Amino acid sequence: MESNNPKLSDFEQRQAMLAAIIDSSKDAIISKDLNSRITSWNKAAEKMFGYTEKEMIGQLINILIPPDRYSEEDMIISQMRQGKPIEHFETIRLTKTGKEIYISLSISPIRNSKGIIVGASKIARDITLQKQHDQQLELINAMGKAIVSELDINVILQKVTDTTTRLSGAAFGAFFYNKTDSKGESYMLYTLSGAPREAFEKFGMPRNTAVFRETFGGFGIVRSDDITQDPRYGKNAPHHGMPKGHLPVISYLAVPVISKTGVVIGGLFFGHPKPAMFTSDHENLVATVASQAAIALDNAMLYEEINLLNNKKDEFISFASHELKTPLTTIKGYLQLAAKKDISPAEYLPKINKQVERLEGIVADLLDISKIHAGKLDLNFKKTSLLELLKESIDSINSSRYKIVLDCPSEDFMVTVDVQKIMQVIINLLTNAVKFSSPGTTITITAIRIGDQVRVSIADQGIGIPGQHLDKIFNQFYRVSDTSKTTKGMGLGLFISKEIIEGHLGKIWAESEEGKGSTFHFQFPVERMKVPG
Ligand code: ADP
Repeated sequence: MESNNPKLSDFEQRQAMLAAIIDSSKDAIISKDLNSRITSWNKAAEKMFGYTEKEMIGQLINILIPPDRYSEEDMIISQMRQGKPIEHFETIRLTKTGKEIYISLSISPIRNSKGIIVGASKIARDITLQKQHDQQLELINAMGKAIVSELDINVILQKVTDTTTRLSGAAFGAFFYNKTDSKGESYMLYTLSGAPREAFEKFGMPRNTAVFRETFGGFGIVRSDDITQDPRYGKNAPHHGMPKGHLPVISYLAVPVISKTGVVIGGLFFGHPKPAMFTSDHENLVATVASQAAIALDNAMLYEEINLLNNKKDEFISFASHELKTPLTTIKGYLQLAAKKDISPAEYLPKINKQVERLEGIVADLLDISKIHAGKLDLNFKKTSLLELLKESIDSINSSRYKIVLDCPSEDFMVTVDVQKIMQVIINLLTNAVKFSSPGTTITITAIRIGDQVRVSIADQGIGIPGQHLDKIFNQFYRVSDTSKTTKGMGLGLFISKEIIEGHLGKIWAESEEGKGSTFHFQFPVERMKVPG
């Protein structure tokens, strides 16, 4: 009699349990015969590879194998025939849509009831994400190694652009980098990845549009699934959105590159023609690289600065030697004439004396400069009468050919200064006034008290200074080009004066009308103020 027992046999129970385990597994579990034909295909396999169980049973496993890896299957079957299991074999397989995925395979032989090997069962785990992370780490490490010792800014920019473009999965990437040249003017360098330069050139440099401002202002990362829908986008005439011929950017990612000191040194920009291509993971990866890049760029920039300073130093040495040589040559000339007794001592002595004074002046300036650079311009403050200070300075310049007018407050007052240094400033300003105006003209020195400050002004009726030079004449070695040919000087006097006045916690500046004359003012506290710290 047939059993109606609803209870399943032990065998059936085991089968059912096994089936449940296999179905609920997150790993793909597949079995095949020794001819590589698929005999079972679980739910996870459907999910991982995109084929249904129905589609796959009876198919050759080769469907999943990239053609250049077919030999792997021969190896697997041969291992199975020998009864040798395979553990954690990492390889690449194809999904139904043709996408490559990384998997880790563990395969064991299947035996029938007589112990004969009839097939194989395999467990496949998708390790694509893990592999991607490994590759990303490798990329970041390789780039880090490459840029850490690199001093060429362009090479760093290119490496960083290439690496970040790959890391972000962008179709194209660009690194825009702010640079300041030796004249202090800033301009932009850029490197590209994934797109030809022409494609960008049509676009021009990133202008100060709302979208770019976010990045160059260092406000933060901009990530958009569709930048064409961004309210900041397309606000600027004349393009209103994407300029014609420009790269088709829908997905957009922009990361500011900020130096240790907090200065925005550039921005990394990524684009993709499809929407929603960039994730927060991409954002984090690029941000990590951006901070590495900032360090490397800081270093490279320092190196460039050192090179520039070295060049300036060389320039200065040759310039200073030339300045020193001129009076020496003149002295030598007079000495030769004197030796031949062609001229009398009354004639040559004052001339030689003048050249020696010039040499003294140049050497004193050079010493001042070296002290300023070493931060050792020591000032010795003393209380002194302002009037005496002014009078003594006027007396020490030989200016009989000029009318020097001293216009002072009726009541003299005391100032706390380094007497020698303030005299040096006044004498320098008076010498310049004489040097840049014609004999017979008037030079006026005015001193007034403004609250707890004293202001001294020296006005001449000379050639004047064009407006665009007014600030720059206080820079080291700066001379107005028109005057540099006709008058002697190294362009150091005003720079040193500025340092001295600033050492007195004051300021110095000039006003001028070309052809009419110049007025130099300096102002500082009457009393020495306590400097905090
Ligand atoms: P130097 O006189 O040795 O060149 P300074 O630092 O004293 O150096 O002056 C810098 C430059 O500023 C001068 O070369 C000149 O071009 C300009 N300058 C200074 N004072 C006057 C002035 N009173 N009138 C016109 N130009 C002046």
